[in-house]
Amino acid sequence: MLKIENYIAGSLVAPISGEYLDNFDPSIGEVYSYIPDSDERDVQLAVDAANAAFPAWSNTATEERFTILMRLVALIERNLESLALAESIDQGKPVSLARTVDIPRAVSNFRFYATAAMHLANESHDSVGQSAFNYTLRQPVGVVGCISPWNLPLYLFTWKIAPAIAAGCTVVAKPSEVTPMTAYLLSKLCIEAGLPAGVLNIVHGTGPRVGSAIVEHKDVKAISFTGGTATGEAIARTAAPMFKKLSLELGGKNPNIIFADCNYEEMLATTVRSSFSNQGEICLCGSRIFIERPIYEKFRRDFLDRVNALQVGDPLLPETNVGAIVSKQHFDKIMSYIGLAHDEGGTILTGGSSPTVDGRCENGWFISPTIIEGLPYDCRTNQEEIFGPVVTIMPFDSEDEVLGFANSVRYGLSATVWTENLSRAHRLAARLESGIVWINCWLQRDLRTPFGGVKDSGVGREGGFEALKFFTEEKNVCIKF
Ligand code: NDP
Repeated sequence: MLKIENYIAGSLVAPISGEYLDNFDPSIGEVYSYIPDSDERDVQLAVDAANAAFPAWSNTATEERFTILMRLVALIERNLESLALAESIDQGKPVSLARTVDIPRAVSNFRFYATAAMHLANESHDSVGQSAFNYTLRQPVGVVGCISPWNLPLYLFTWKIAPAIAAGCTVVAKPSEVTPMTAYLLSKLCIEAGLPAGVLNIVHGTGPRVGSAIVEHKDVKAISFTGGTATGEAIARTAAPMFKKLSLELGGKNPNIIFADCNYEEMLATTVRSSFSNQGEICLCGSRIFIERPIYEKFRRDFLDRVNALQVGDPLLPETNVGAIVSKQHFDKIMSYIGLAHDEGGTILTGGSSPTVDGRCENGWFISPTIIEGLPYDCRTNQEEIFGPVVTIMPFDSEDEVLGFANSVRYGLSATVWTENLSRAHRLAARLESGIVWINCWLQRDLRTPFGGVKDSGVGREGGFEALKFFTEEKNVCIKF
């Protein structure tokens, strides 16, 4: 069985411990490869390699960095099919989704930041009347740590390492232990692309051993993290006293607000996607759906019909819409929330159970798309992140009322509003406590825009020049003449 290797100092290497963890294919519920069970010794080797590579990489001409990253882009594109297949097997998502969303986005991430770095400009300030002027250098911070989750493995991993490398930093990265495969395949492509040794180092293993060692290491100057809010809090507690730069993209419990005057067909089709794409395992999925009362019954009926038509099954089949849940642990967590919803008095309109998928996936971890009705906005089911194919539907009567419902949670990542009333759309966009608001669309991304959350959904912004700024430090130089 395949043993994944760490990527340190330009080479693929075994963990120092010689120990490996099981890597599961969630669609069949079986181990299909092994992951290095690395520890702080492997992280030390990676930090040493990143430190050694930093002087040369930070002084490499931006255009040369661009050329190397674009070679990587070409290699990812050339290997799109095999990467998509690997992502689907490792994560459980439909291969069609990996082929059209995950891997193309990894390509876009590298392409975007390879070019963006060439357009990052420094400022100067003329101190009129003081015979002086200032210019501001923007220098790469040094060795940085990038830690990513399991839901969009290569997509989110590259969303961090692409700007870090493009900015001139060297990186010690840890993909989720649950979905390490495409990061491993990427390390092979980095070697093929001629990325200098030590610029990117990938250490596989668990959060408590590898992730913590990266966060705690004194030579790692900045941490870019995407994952759960509790983990983000633990990272902040360790990193803050060391004055590290921190970018934290955390959990969400996003509202989807539907007014009676919306473009109904467009709303319905998009709401099915925003609820159940990637088995609902996207931090931006809208899991609390608020519907204006005049169209509540119609929406309920039509939404149920559409959702019941979704095909749950083998992620490798082209007709599959909803694949497997990423791990048994996460499967159990989602099922326990469905139980909680029931205990809180909710009615399960559809789903709520694990369907049997015949054939090779009969032992996989599947959950049918689940719609729950009849719960108050402030119960636990409606306040806590479930991160699975589970949504609640609730009627509302006024703009103020739904705004109160939407803003009642501790999270503030994204919100979706469906209305043809322009004034109302702008009013709500300004008042929603959320880092991202989509009006009449969902997951429409322009990589130049700031991406991130407020409240317990995180600190800092990714995307555009924000990420390049995060991985660089400003230094003002004042010249008297
Ligand atoms: P986790 O917080 O459990 O893990 C995220 C990463 O952190 C993993 O690589 C994990 O390793 C690692 N990790 C775990 N513990 C530590 C630690 N003590 N120190 C350092 N690193 C650690 O999140 P999940 O992987 O479960 O991802 C799901 C969560 O991510 C959801 O809450 C979701 O909302 C959020 N998310 C947020 C996004 C955003 O942009 N705001 C986007 C996507 C997801 P390991 O896997 O080995 O445990």
